[in-house]
Amino acid sequence: MQTSLPSSASSSDKPEMKEHCNHSADCLKMIQLILDGEATEQQLVRVKANLESCRPCIEMYQLEKEVKELLTKRMEKRCCPEQLVATIKSRILSFS
Ligand SMILES: [Zn+2]
Repeated sequence: MQTSLPSSASSSDKPEMKEHCNHSADCLKMIQLILDGEATEQQLVRVKANLESCRPCIEMYQLEKEVKELLTKRMEKRCCPEQLVATIKSRILSFS
């Protein structure tokens, strides 16, 4: 897949950053546990370690977190769904 972003894709401070996750199903499960506040300390530590080396999981985590926050805000403040969708879309675009 080609990404046509002009920005430099080479933040090579961490050469071991994985571009593909071989365990994304597990990662997603963990991420959702964390965001639901149901993860144990041990799980938190493991996921954090993983998130530092796994690019897809970082993006997945941030997206999940963003969506959850937006949904929470929306329920609290009843902000308009259009704005919510636009915000999520722009988030997704900024990751690709
Ligand atoms: Zn992962």
